[in-house]
Amino acid sequence: MDKMNHAVIVGAGMAGLASAAALSPYFKKVTVLDKDQRDRNDDVFPAGVRKAVPQGAHIHILLRAGLDRLESILPGISSALESRGAVRVSFGSDQQIYEYGGWMPNRDLGIHFLSQSRPLLENVVFDYVSKIDNVQISHRSPVERLNFATDPKGGAPSVTLRDGSKIASDIVIDAAGNGAPFLSEVSKVLSGEVPVEKSSIDLFYATLHFKKKAEWQGCQENILVNPEPGVSHIGGSLISIEGESWCVSLHGTNGIKPPKTIEEWMDMAKNLADQRIWQRICGADTLGSLKVFKKAHSVFRRFDQVSGIPIGYFPVGDTITSFNPIYGQGMTVALGHVLALRDAFAKKSSDLGFVFKDYLENAIDSSRPAWERAASFDKNNKLISAQEGRMETLRKLTRARHSKAESDSGFHLQLAKQVHMLL
Ligand SMILES: Cc1cc2nc3c(=O)[nH]c(=O)nc-3n(C[C@H](O)[C@H](O)[C@H](O)COP(=O)(O)OP(=O)(O)OC[C@H]3O[C@@H](n4cnc5c(N)ncnc54)[C@H](O)[C@@H]3O)c2cc1C
Repeated sequence: MDKMNHAVIVGAGMAGLASAAALSPYFKKVTVLDKDQRDRNDDVFPAGVRKAVPQGAHIHILLRAGLDRLESILPGISSALESRGAVRVSFGSDQQIYEYGGWMPNRDLGIHFLSQSRPLLENVVFDYVSKIDNVQISHRSPVERLNFATDPKGGAPSVTLRDGSKIASDIVIDAAGNGAPFLSEVSKVLSGEVPVEKSSIDLFYATLHFKKKAEWQGCQENILVNPEPGVSHIGGSLISIEGESWCVSLHGTNGIKPPKTIEEWMDMAKNLADQRIWQRICGADTLGSLKVFKKAHSVFRRFDQVSGIPIGYFPVGDTITSFNPIYGQGMTVALGHVLALRDAFAKKSSDLGFVFKDYLENAIDSSRPAWERAASFDKNNKLISAQEGRMETLRKLTRARHSKAESDSGFHLQLAKQVHMLL
């Protein structure tokens, strides 16, 4: 089959940029449109947190499975990230996890991942993708609507920009993120709405960045302290990022209010269930201001449960699933969608209906296990918070798990692989 003419991608976030690279061999031209601007300087990152991606100011861990997926789409990206300051973190030794009264054992398991800010990650990916000959990325190009033929055989979709101009395409990739601004237009063409599963998470992230104190410079550790009802309802993560700095996010659920000031934030950090994060940041210089992000629900839009999705429309990334971020799954699952897209187009069928079916099955297979895992953790966390009596049992179970992992490196490795979606 000859190459198709034109793929239009709405959204130049993680899913959109990676999709452009994945589709470029199968189209003569790939256009990526984003409403946001890139050249934004903020108070922490030289590259800037984009206004339309405010979550970028908070901890963004790319799990090892996500790094492998990205590397398969953009070979060489890991070295490019490291050369721009990403920190290599070894799971089991540098990544330290505190849960319910104890630390996971400390042992080098031979798995590493890269730790960096979301702006650095997105910028390195952007630099890579913008060098692909047939890909054109336009920022400040807000898409107003997608135009579908009401008759399924009525032709390819097109997009209309806010300035009224229209761009014709063979396919439209909807990578516009969790807001899913085009869902209502897609629904209009269907016989009904796209079913949406929602799970209430009522979560806040509150983040500060710090310059590492001299004694911690060169240290690669990432630290996660889970909430522990009865001790602290707040959880905290500290990750080493580029520029010898730390990104530290506190998170709380179940109606707990986020801190309003740096002083309130410091007080919460000091009173986490373990002091290890506090020991690092106490007395360190902060970089920039306190950033807060609230997220009420995780969402799974079930494009697989409706028929009649317009020919040529492909949703990816957070348009399909937007998770509770504390499990760090979002970008890894989005990259799973992109691989599904690449594999579907690699079969070179001229039947877009067939390509879509193939794509969607695999994309949903990428979302579903992550969704189920997060939903069961969320349910458990709510129960634990509601019944403090369950804490003792949980502490005992956790101690037993840690001690098994201490004596059995294979079991420890299995736990690490689960966390990094490698199983
Ligand atoms: C607080 C927080 C912390 C998180 N932490 C992690 C983490 O640790 N690890 C992880 O893997 N994931 C994390 N995530 C999830 C992660 O941010 C998302 O899963 C990921 O960004 C999804 O990528 P995407 O490309 O689908 O959407 P996005 O990255 O949000 O990109 C969407 C793009 O679409 C553009 N757009 C929207 N509407 C239009 C329009 N009309 N016209 C043109 N362009 C448009 C936007 O400008 C944006 O650039 C976190 C999320 C939150 C909220």
